[in-house]
Amino acid sequence: MFWQKEIETAPHSEIQKLQLRMLNDTIERAKKSKFYSKKLQNVNQLKNIEQIQELPFTTKEDLRGGFPYDFLAVDLGEVVRLHSSSGTTGNPTVVYHTAQDLQSWANISARCMYAAGARKNDIFQNTMGYGLFTGGLGFHYGAERLGMMTIPIGPGNSKRQTWFMQNFGTTTVHILPSYAVRLYHSMKEDGIDPKKDLKLKIFFIGAEPHTEELRREIQELYGLKAFNSYGLSEISGPGVAFECGEQDGMHIWEDFVIPEIIDPDTLEVLPDGQEGELVLTAINRRAMPVIRYRTRDLTKILPSPCACGRTHRKIARIKGRTDDMMIINGVNIFPIQIEKTIMNIPEASKNYIIEIAEKNYMDKLSVKIEINDEAFDGTLEDLEKLKHKIETELKSETGVSPIVSFVDQGTLPAAEGKAKRVYDLRKK
Ligand code: AMP
Ligand code: ZN
Repeated sequence: MFWQKEIETAPHSEIQKLQLRMLNDTIERAKKSKFYSKKLQNVNQLKNIEQIQELPFTTKEDLRGGFPYDFLAVDLGEVVRLHSSSGTTGNPTVVYHTAQDLQSWANISARCMYAAGARKNDIFQNTMGYGLFTGGLGFHYGAERLGMMTIPIGPGNSKRQTWFMQNFGTTTVHILPSYAVRLYHSMKEDGIDPKKDLKLKIFFIGAEPHTEELRREIQELYGLKAFNSYGLSEISGPGVAFECGEQDGMHIWEDFVIPEIIDPDTLEVLPDGQEGELVLTAINRRAMPVIRYRTRDLTKILPSPCACGRTHRKIARIKGRTDDMMIINGVNIFPIQIEKTIMNIPEASKNYIIEIAEKNYMDKLSVKIEINDEAFDGTLEDLEKLKHKIETELKSETGVSPIVSFVDQGTLPAAEGKAKRVYDLRKK
């Protein structure tokens, strides 16, 4: 039933005692980094866990500002891995890991997968991206730790994915929820019925927001159980919170992170059950402790205990964000990245809108730009070249492929005050 029964089912008061110890150690370790040596200068050992509320927050801007090494709390020689998050313009956010950090991350990832029902004899196909994105490597090591035969196939190429599933009897898959649906349609086109022809039992779905309805649809299409998986690279990556067999909220491993929910406007800490922004403190990291990190993700801590017996509290499905980050087919993008690119193109006017639509479970990002009559006086062919140029630059800035179109000057709604530029037409 449990990967680590003792800690997973420990009385919550015991977990809190452990958290206090781990938090105090973390504060001491964090002070070795340039950033926290200043930020935590006047912070001494805490006497109770509630005192975490007296610590300062850390934001994504802090992480970017601390590029490249201000958050590093150990000698560089101790660091064995770097990951970096998508969705930033300018300096990326970088996260470092020691060998011990990677072991502890693999352990909580294994705990997640075990809680969802994965076992040593399962065959695990990881369709998440390997590389700087944490989805691939994060669960790769967790799955190996659990003992599953792990197929590091990475994303895309649906026919190949299906071929591996058929030939190796894949039972467990880590997959973006939107891709799960597309993969099903590719199988159907090739006359494969996953319910009859494959051995799939469990999907871990995450890295992007999705609804309960979509989860149910995936479960029905494939005839399996799909478990919601939440994580973010600033706090390692996947494995931060995960559904157990009850499929009713995600356990957040409280011997790995301390969760808080705050009101994003007043920054006041809210009681369990109330919705707000999730704030996380990583209490088991050596290379890069992160204290009270404002995730910008909206959720709540579920107040009632879980029937599975695990005592680590649960968070609800992520409801949205408190900033303007968009997640396009699993890739994080901020509108400012698009704006920055457009502003560097003289033929484009400063008026543009971004539209996100959904077709066959693929997000489609389009950018409509008013042409700048004064700077552009070309033929249709020139316009086509310009479109191609902007699309290429947007791809290189954001990592996704938007479709650019032009409209005449003065056609888009005039920006009054704070312009509404992003139109998200996807089903929520
Ligand atoms: P990254 O750091 O690139 O892994 O992106 C992390 C962000 O992806 C989180 O802060 C969330 O906004 C989003 N995310 C990750 N997992 C989920 C999930 N299961 N449901 C909703 N959003 C998610
Ligand atoms: Zn549970």
